[in-house]
Formats: sequence, C-alpha cells, structure tokens
Amino acid sequence: MTDLVALVTGASRGIGRACAEELGRQGYKVAIHYRGNEDLARQVAESIPGSKIFQADVAEEEQCKALIKSVKEEFGRIDVLVNNAGMSIDQVLTFAKPADFERLLDVNVKSVFNLSKLVSKVMIKQKKGSIINLTSVVGHTGNGGQSMYAATKGAITSFTKSIASDLAGFGIRANCVAPGFIETDMTNALPEEVKEAILKKVPLKRLGTGNEVAKTVHFLASDASSYVTGSTIHVNGGMFTN
Ligand code: NAP
Repeated sequence: MTDLVALVTGASRGIGRACAEELGRQGYKVAIHYRGNEDLARQVAESIPGSKIFQADVAEEEQCKALIKSVKEEFGRIDVLVNNAGMSIDQVLTFAKPADFERLLDVNVKSVFNLSKLVSKVMIKQKKGSIINLTSVVGHTGNGGQSMYAATKGAITSFTKSIASDLAGFGIRANCVAPGFIETDMTNALPEEVKEAILKKVPLKRLGTGNEVAKTVHFLASDASSYVTGSTIHVNGGMFTN
C-alpha cells in the first residue's frame, strides 16, 4: 500500500464502486463516499484494505465541506478526488420540469464545483493532486430526452478545462472521463428497447463495464498521465465513430 489517498464520491455502487476498488488494488487508501446506501458502502470498504466510508449529500455545500474536512482529518491528505456521484432525470424538453433541472444542477454540477474548490486548498498545500470528473458521451453529443442531464455534463467539461488552467501552477491536474453506456443501476433502469437502440450505436457492440471506466480513472490519477490536464478521455466503445 502507498501513502496516497483517493476520495471517490458515489462509491457505493456502479462506476464509483469500480473506481474505488481499482484504486484500492493499485495501493491507494480510499475514502468511500456514499449518500444513502450505507450497507453497500460497507461492503465496498471490506474489500479495500485501509479504506473508510463517509456519508454526504454532495448537492449540499455544507455537507461537501464536512466531507472534505472528515477525509483530511482521517487520512491527513487527499491526492485524488474522483467526482463520480451523479444522477439522471430524463424527459423531452416540453415536459421537462424546472425543479428537476435545479436538482440535476445541484447534484451533478454544484457538487463538482464545491468539492473541487474545497479539495484544491488541500492539494495546493501538498503541491500535488489529481481531480477526475465523470462526464458523459451525451455531454458532447447531446441526446434527445436528456437535455437537462446533457447540459450538466457539458458544464462539467468546460469547468474542468478552466480549473486545469487555474490549478496547473500548483501541481494539480484536472481531467474528465466521459463514459458511453456502462452497465450500472443507471442504465439498468432503461427500457429494453432503448438499450437495444443504444447498442446499435456502439461499434464494439456491447455496454461497457465499470471496471473499464475505472482503469482510465486510475491512469488519470497516476503519474502515468503527468502531462495530461484539461482533457477528456472517452470510454464509449467507439460511439463517436458511428
Ligand atoms: P449509479 O449506479 O446510479 O450510482 C450513482 C452514485 O452516485 C451512487 O453511489 C449514489 O449514492 C451517488 N449519488 C447520487 N446522488 C447523490 C447525491 N445527491 N449525493 C451524494 N451521492 C449521490 O450511477 P453510475 O451509472 O455508476 O454513474 C456514475 C457517474 O458516471 C455519474 O456521474 C453518471 O452521470 C456518469 N455516467 C454514467 C454512465 C452509465 O452508463 N452508467 C454513462 C455516462 C456517465 P447512493 O448509492 O448512496 O445513493
């Protein structure tokens, strides 16, 4: 095990869980964040030596503050922040509800702003750090029925490019990983016909796995990507080529 510490938000399931497990295998001490699924978060922690679980609703600024404070107190440092927690509410524009859009902005965008800002203070003192934000293929391509969600993911992309510039002088890198369609609770909720339509757009002809996203997250966390900042790596089975 190294002395490096990674905080992964939304690590109780799906892509976040896979990221926590991969970083754990690579020797990081992992702060496993969850919102509601404490039992699942505990299960993840059992498989990662030296890890701890932390609860917060990342849509709330005060809870973001408490989260970063607790992780810093517990581990003494934070080398990697993976802003993975997120949600989707899908609706065609005419029927889209403003309250749903507000919620998506709070959960998907304000959380990334608050946690990145708070962790940057810790990383500046360390003169090193890596922030990795989960966006989505639809933040780049758009997708009918997902205008609200796509807008939040597009916002994170331009935010990340901007903070990469703000933080580069302090040895801190910031990048995005943009998954395509990955097998998780989020995509399991889609109707079968929607899944089939999606698969037609994927040249590799299958959904991706959380672990395939996690390998890319680990690359961006590690010194193997020391000259990569302000970038997005797409993990989408070739969807852009179709
Ligand atoms: P998921 O299976 O639905 O899991 C979402 C995670 O986020 C859970 O751990 C959940 O915590 C946490 N979370 C949700 N709202 C939260 C809140 N307000 N405060 C704190 N935590 C919250 O999602 P996923 O499919 O793994 O997606 C992970 C990320 O990848 C998201 O940002 C998503 O937009 C992005 N992404 C996913 C796909 C895909 O195909 N799956 C594609 C592109 C991008 P609890 O379990 O405690 O509720």
